[in-house]
Formats: sequence, C-alpha cells, structure tokens
Amino acid sequence: MLFKDILGNESKKKLLSDLVYNNRAPHALLFYGREGTVKLSLALAYAQYILCENRTKHDSCGVCPACYKSMRRIHPDVHFTFPVIKKDGKKREETTSNDFLENWRYMLNTLPEMSVKDWSSSINAGNSLPNINTRECNEIIQKLSLKAFEGDAKIMIVWMPEYLGKEGNRLLKIIEEPTDNTYIILICEDIDKILNTILSRTQKINVQPYSDAELSERIRTVVSTEVKDLKQVTLLADGNMSKAMSIIRGGNEDYSALLFDWIRASYKGKPEALQPIINACIDLGREKQKHFLQYGLHFFREYLYILGTGSRGKRINDQEYEIASKMKKIIDLEMGTKIVHILNQSIEHISRNANPKILFMANSLQLGDVLKNTA
Ligand SMILES: [Zn+2]
Repeated sequence: MLFKDILGNESKKKLLSDLVYNNRAPHALLFYGREGTVKLSLALAYAQYILCENRTKHDSCGVCPACYKSMRRIHPDVHFTFPVIKKDGKKREETTSNDFLENWRYMLNTLPEMSVKDWSSSINAGNSLPNINTRECNEIIQKLSLKAFEGDAKIMIVWMPEYLGKEGNRLLKIIEEPTDNTYIILICEDIDKILNTILSRTQKINVQPYSDAELSERIRTVVSTEVKDLKQVTLLADGNMSKAMSIIRGGNEDYSALLFDWIRASYKGKPEALQPIINACIDLGREKQKHFLQYGLHFFREYLYILGTGSRGKRINDQEYEIASKMKKIIDLEMGTKIVHILNQSIEHISRNANPKILFMANSLQLGDVLKNTA
C-alpha cells in the first residue's frame, strides 16, 4: 500500500513520511480512530515506507523487492497480530494470528477498513469473541527479538489491542525498551480501553473518517458494479467504509416509509394498525432489522440536530426534511432523545439475538409512551 493510494488524511500521511524520512520514526505508534477508517491502511503504507529500498520524500517506490513483498503482505520483517478464535483442530491457547494469516491477507486486500465484526465473520467466529492470548504475546516478543531477515527494520502491527486485555502488560517491556530498528504499530478504535502505561509510551495519531466525497470515491473503487443510491449509502455510512459495505451487501433499501408508518402506528397505539408493521419488521430478518433500526437512528439524530440548531444538517434528504419539519409540532427535543435511546437499545438487543417479535412489540409500546408523553 502506498500513501497515495489512501484517500484523505493528507496531513497524517505527510507526518508519517516526514518521521521516517528525517530518521525520527518513533518505536511505538498508536493509530486511533472510529470504525471503518483508514487506520490499518495507513499502518501498511507506513510499514512499507520504512522498508522501501528506494523511497522518495513522501512515498514508497512501489516497485523495489521490499515494496513487492509488502504489497503482497509477505514481507518477512512485517509481523501481524490481531484477535482470533480457536482454530479447528487446535486448542484456543495454542492458536495465534499465524493460523489465520490467509484470511487476514484476504481482508487486507479487500477491505482494510474492516470492523471487528467484518473480521469475525471472515473467520467464521459465530458467537465466539476473538481475542489476543498469552501465547500470541509471547510470540510477539519472540518475533521482535529475532534479527531482521532482510533490511534492518522489524515491524509489528497489532490490530485492535483493545482485545489484549491484561495481556497488554506483557508487551510493555518491548514498548519500554525496544531493540534497535524495531517498530511497533498499534491500531485501535477505543483509546479508552488501552492501558495507560502503553498510551504514555506511544506517539498517537488520530485518524479521521472519510469525508462523504472520499467515501463515495472509495465505494466506487471497491464495488465494480454501479451502486444504487450511492448518495444515500454515503449519507447513512457517515464516513465508515465498513458500514457502507454492510449497507450495500444488505441491499440498500429505502426504510423511510416503514419507519414513519411505525412511528404513526405506535403513536396511535391501535393493535390492528401496529401488528402488520411489526410483522413487516420481523420479516426483514436480523441483518435488515439492524439496517432498518440504524436508518431510524440516522433520521432521529438528524432530527435532533434540526431541533437543536434550527438548521438543516447535511445528511438529510429533501423528503426526510419535509417529514422532520412536520414532526416538530409533535416531537420535541426530550422526546426525540428518548427515541434515539430506544433505537440504540434495540440495535444492541438485535445484535445480541433478542427475539424480534418481542423486541418490536416492546419498542412500539415504548415509542407510543414517549409520543403520547406518558413515558
Ligand atoms: Zn520500494
């Protein structure tokens, strides 16, 4: 991956290449930023730049033997660590990232902005929660203690150190007392979950999400066929490439009619009006139920923005804006906030395999209470 192949984050790319070019590359770097951003892509480009035999001031050459290996993700001096599950035929404590390298390379090539959920489904994790175990940490220490195979730099890319838990302490020593030409790159989403002792010893780089224009361009590069409603997908995904792909895969249906029917029926609270809508929600299936609720969340966040600022946000289309304008007479800021809370909770429950029939019924009653101001 070359810096120039990554959309956006121009100042971060310049900062990274400057660090290396001026021999000031820190031993430990932490890239942090929301889900679906280019954190991992930047780390790959940075590692390649360190190893490139013929780098220019701002980028790798892309053609030298080191670049070739980096781009194929087979450079022997670039090591990867990421959360995994038990490998078939092995015990969990014996499984490490090495057992999933093929899946890993595939994801790096297809969706380096992947979320943990994308990664989990690519390794068929099912209900198992991936993590980084003791053995993995010992291997990291071991790998970094070896002499570099080729050039003289060794690079360890740790994706999602949030999943290290207490094991993170084991890595402190190599972060505190790095051997020469050893570079550790940590990539996380939730900086609050990283041990303070690690945070204080790393240089931190805050990676920005894609702008709408960048995200549209990125989607067009990845999806070869024309994406229906590209604009709508971009608005909903809000800079998150993983979310954009999930919407595209789920069929980017228009959920607005269903949402407003649901609100109306919940307000009236008549079971005969509510039942067909709840049935329609159940029929969607779990993935689309999530998309539907996420759409609802998107709409009500925009709605709150309108109520709060008196102006129209950038992420709302004309039809939604018209509905929002009419809603103002009925739903105030407090009610809107409660609705956002209900939707957030529902998404969490659906993700945890809640029974959709019970969930949508309970939500409709809750919505009704909020709308009638009896909550
Ligand atoms: Zn090169």
